[in-house]
Amino acid sequence: MEDTFCNKCGECCKHIKADFENKKLFFDGIQDLEDSFKDMLIETSKEGNISVCRCKYLQNNLCTNNEKPDICTRYPSSPFAFIPENCGYTGKVFSELEKIKQKIRKFKEEIIDYGSIINSNGNKNESRHAEWIIKSHEKFIDKYKEYGSQDW
Ligand code: SF4
Ligand code: SF4
Repeated sequence: MEDTFCNKCGECCKHIKADFENKKLFFDGIQDLEDSFKDMLIETSKEGNISVCRCKYLQNNLCTNNEKPDICTRYPSSPFAFIPENCGYTGKVFSELEKIKQKIRKFKEEIIDYGSIINSNGNKNESRHAEWIIKSHEKFIDKYKEYGSQDW
């Protein structure tokens, strides 16, 4: 995302959440935890099974890693990015996430509408088309399941 929103507070490098057991990283969305990224992390507290970590390369709120991973350079690029309180990207990430949520809500409404076409229509072509749309919408919704799309 645009660099202009970053106020260089360094908080995102102090509150990185990871599930070491399941090799999951909660950073720019839910991601696989690469060993190289794991090696940068120092656990500072626990939230259940999740470790809250700071990066060993953060000094005086500045990154000192000459080989900063791409994932850090891009962060926060995802509407599902985990951003700390008062991060300059809060509004941007929120509005991007809202766009996806709205699309999913619309798809859920359409699934109901197309479902009624299938149930009330004797026209096989129309029913087949409706089934195809429902499947495609469900696939899209499912893509965001780990972020809670079933409840949006
Ligand atoms: S928390 Fe947000 S504002 Fe602070 S350094 Fe990270 S990206 Fe920039
Ligand atoms: S490598 Fe740099 S940008 Fe990435 S988490 Fe560590 S301190 Fe932050």
